[in-house]
Amino acid sequence: MSPREKAKEIIDGAIKEGRKYLMEYESKMVCQAYGLPVARSVIARTAEEAVKLSREIGYPVVLKIASPDVIHKTDVGGVIVGVKNDEEVVKAYEKIMENVKKHKPDARIIGVLVQEMAPQSTEVIVGMVRDSQFGPAIMFGLGGIFVEILKDVSFRIAPLTPGDAREMIQEIKAYPVLKGYRNLPPADIDALVDVILKTSQLSLENPEVSQLDLNPIFVYEKGAKIVDARIILG
Ligand code: ADP
Ligand code: MG
Repeated sequence: MSPREKAKEIIDGAIKEGRKYLMEYESKMVCQAYGLPVARSVIARTAEEAVKLSREIGYPVVLKIASPDVIHKTDVGGVIVGVKNDEEVVKAYEKIMENVKKHKPDARIIGVLVQEMAPQSTEVIVGMVRDSQFGPAIMFGLGGIFVEILKDVSFRIAPLTPGDAREMIQEIKAYPVLKGYRNLPPADIDALVDVILKTSQLSLENPEVSQLDLNPIFVYEKGAKIVDARIILG
């Protein structure tokens, strides 16, 4: 199956259910089809299943609510990071269910997403907003305050060349942070170029995707890991 065929299958499934966006695990499957480096994630429908999957993935893990009615998972107490053993998985599973029932009693719940815990590192964001005239606009920035408060981001219209992607990374004001700063090691710029190019390709091949957010992406000295992904349809 081509990346587009795989992505279309997932997108069509959501459209059939009348949904305007993909859940995290669906968004990550679409990203994975395009070779994007997503943190390994699997759905567990019971606490027992969550334990089994956590052992397979290897501790520590992250547990997150999987619900078509929850788009911002932290807001409903739906994310627990640093889960270290079987006992903690059961507790975290129950805690997430309790939190979601409290904050959003009518949310349909599929289960929890069990995820490999990516080591902390510099956070970056890659996004896409489709413009009706110009097509997919790809965005790059550093995570947290850099994007939210300082609006320190760069944009390019797809399709992008590797040179375009590299320029996008170099032109943000915070670029020196990525080159290595004090106790921060230099970030793998090539890995980020790769993420930007694959995001560009995904956006061009899937016109149903109106918006995409890879936020955050942890970038390392070698490689990068997408820990959250959101795709809006329309
Ligand atoms: P939300 O739907 O609230 O945006 P996220 O999936 O982004 O939820 O999780 C919230 C935060 O938890 C992330 O910004 C990140 O700091 C941390 N986190 C989430 N998943 C992982 C992971 N797999 N490894 C490490 N940290 C994670
Ligand atoms: Mg997020």
